[in-house]
Amino acid sequence: MSELIDRFGRKIEYLRLSVTDRCDFRCFYCIPKGFNDFTDWDDQLTLDEYVRLIRIFSELGVSKVRFTGGEPLVRRDIVEMVQQIGALAGIEDLSMSTNASQLAKHAKAIREAGVSRLNVSLDTLKPDVFKQITQGDLNKVIEGLMAAKAEGFHPIKINMVVMRDLNFDEVGDMVNFCLENRFTLRFIETMPVGAAGQNAKDRYVSLAEVREMLEQRFELEPAKMKGAGPAKYLKVVGGRLKIGFINPMSQHFCEDCNRVRLSSEGTLYLCLGQQDKLEFRPLLRQGLSDEQLKDAIREAINRKPEKHEFNDKPDQVVRVMSMTGG
Ligand code: SAM
Ligand code: SF4
Repeated sequence: MSELIDRFGRKIEYLRLSVTDRCDFRCFYCIPKGFNDFTDWDDQLTLDEYVRLIRIFSELGVSKVRFTGGEPLVRRDIVEMVQQIGALAGIEDLSMSTNASQLAKHAKAIREAGVSRLNVSLDTLKPDVFKQITQGDLNKVIEGLMAAKAEGFHPIKINMVVMRDLNFDEVGDMVNFCLENRFTLRFIETMPVGAAGQNAKDRYVSLAEVREMLEQRFELEPAKMKGAGPAKYLKVVGGRLKIGFINPMSQHFCEDCNRVRLSSEGTLYLCLGQQDKLEFRPLLRQGLSDEQLKDAIREAINRKPEKHEFNDKPDQVVRVMSMTGG
C-alpha cells in the first residue's frame, strides 16, 4: 500500500523510468530534427544509483515500474537493471515500452529477467511511411514483435500515434494486424511535449474521429482491461482484440493519475505536462541517507500538479519526450 498520497488524494504507486534519453529512432513527434543534446553518459544515473532509488521508492509503496526512454534497449546494462529492480521486495509489476527494433536480440533475456508486459510503438505497417515517421526499419520491428510473441509476453500492446495525412487511413489495417497476432491495440493522440511534439500539432486527430472511422468497419462494444490506466477500452464484437483510446488532449484523466517519471539524469518529473521536478542526482551524489531521500520524495509528491495544461498552454513543456519517458 503506497504511503505516497498527494494533496489531491491520489496514491502514487507507479514509476516510469526513462533509463536513457537516447534512441536508435528519430520519431519526428518525439525528438526534434537535428537534436543532439542528449544527457552525457557521466550524467546518467548508474545502475547502482537507480537500484538504490527504486528500492527507496518501493519502501514508500511504489510497486509498479515501467522501463521506457528514449529506447530502453539501447542501454547496455538494461538486462541487469531489470533483474535487480525486479528482485526488490515490493516491486510486483515490471513492464517495458520499446520501439522493438532490438527486441529480437533481447526478448528472451528481458522476459527471463522479469518483464512480462510490453508496449511497442508501431504507427504504420507501410515501410516507407514507417521510415518517414521514425527514420528506422519496419522489418526489424516486426521481427522483434514476433520474437516477443514467441517468448510469451502478455499482453503485448501496440501503441499507434494517429496522425492526419500519415497513418489515419491505416487504423482499420492495424486492427486486423492486432487481431491476427493477438496483440492489444491502443490509439494515442499527439501531445505537444517538446519542440517535436509541438511541431506535430497540425497532424493531431481526435480519437473520437478514430472511433467513428472504426465503427464504420467493425462492431465495437465496451471492454474491461486490467490496469487500464488512462486508456478507455473497446473490443471488436465476437473477437478477442481489445482497443484502447488514450486521449490526453480531448479528455483529462489527471484525477486518476497514479504515476511519476524519473529521467535518466535522475530528475523526477511530477507530471508529463508540467515542469515541476526534483533533481535526485546531486542528492544521491552528496551522500544523503535513505531517510533524507524519503523526505525529499514525500515533499516532491506533495507538489504534484493537479493536471496537465496541454490545451491551455501547449508550449510550456520544452523538454523532449524521450527525456521524460512517454
Ligand atoms: N522508445 C520507446 C517507444 O517508442 O515505445 C519508449 C519511449 S516513447 C517516448 C513512449 C511513447 O511515447 C511511444 O508510444 C511514442 O509513440 C509516444 N510519444 C512520443 N512523443 C509523443 C508525442 N509528441 N505525442 C504522443 N505520443 C508521443
Ligand atoms: Fe525513440 Fe520512442 Fe521517441 Fe520514437 S517515440 S524517437 S522510438 S523514444
